Amino acid sequence: MSAPAIRRIAFIGLGLIASSMCRAIREGGLAAEIVGTARSAETRETAREIGLCNRVVDTPAEAVAGADVVVLAVPVGAMDAVAAEIAGHLARDAIVTDVGSVKRSVIDQVLPQLPEGVHFVPAHPIAGTEHSGPRAGFAELFEGRWCILTPLPGTEPEAVERIERLWRDMGAMVDRMDPEHHDLVLAVTSHAPHLIAYTMVGVADDLRRVTDSEVIKYSAAGFRDFTRIAASDPTMWRDVFLHNKEATLEILGRFTEELFVLQRAIREGDGEFLHDYFARTRAIRRGIIEAKQDVDAPDFGRVVLKKNG
Ligand code: NAP
Repeated sequence: MSAPAIRRIAFIGLGLIASSMCRAIREGGLAAEIVGTARSAETRETAREIGLCNRVVDTPAEAVAGADVVVLAVPVGAMDAVAAEIAGHLARDAIVTDVGSVKRSVIDQVLPQLPEGVHFVPAHPIAGTEHSGPRAGFAELFEGRWCILTPLPGTEPEAVERIERLWRDMGAMVDRMDPEHHDLVLAVTSHAPHLIAYTMVGVADDLRRVTDSEVIKYSAAGFRDFTRIAASDPTMWRDVFLHNKEATLEILGRFTEELFVLQRAIREGDGEFLHDYFARTRAIRRGIIEAKQDVDAPDFGRVVLKKNG
């Protein structure tokens, strides 16, 4: 067997994404040593208990010392402070990468703080769940999912290729794009849908006070699919909206206009319009299944919930 491509990889933050990466890296033998740290003593203790890394250390400075790859896996709003903490402790020639859901803001926060000789390769895996923390991760999270790299002009191609290879070795498919384009695409596919889910669940919660438990009782009619998205980590999502402000507002503006169009069709009883519209959107679901980004099982493949089961 050949030697692992990475000698020492350091994780700052040990939540869902980092812990999934740690597991995939261990299973694939992709790094000789995994070092990790998290902000709270509790998370560090959990990571030690479950043997997530070879070493869990107390500070970001200790974690990055001597690492050839450093992964910033903290909420987008924490990148600035983390970059400041590690900057003076990075090995020359180290590759810093991140997994943040927004790219332009992370680049602006991190890049100016990195010393010369250190490479920065921004990345975003398009995979996740509504769970957080070091116990939430699993090695297969990235299998068959996309990871978007937004490399900067002038970055050494070898550094970008090493991060690309890491993601491919964890089972992901890799695409490259401009940070601004990434932020717009993700506003459509992820950020705006999350905000809409948060809103829908908020509205239902207000209504629940009127209809008592009926919103929960009949949630299988569609509402519960919104609640899964709206159960995502509040800190992570607060930061996503604050750091992808323009693109999210642009998409929400379009969404609001479209909502008014549908509202008018309902008011005017324009069934043909509604039918055509829904036929178009149904085709998008088929496209996602054909692209293997979801399974074709009815009800998202849920098994029937048995009574008391
Ligand atoms: P997570 O499970 O909530 O874990 C976040 C980690 O960051 C924890 O270890 C936490 O430490 C640490 N942290 C939180 N605030 C911090 C701060 N102010 N300073 C330093 N460390 C801090 O989050 P995650 O889902 O892995 O997300 C990590 C990154 O991946 C985010 O940038 C997110 O945008 C991105 N991402 C998430 C998903 C997803 O679906 N979840 C998908 C793709 C990308 P403690 O545990 O000690 O608080």
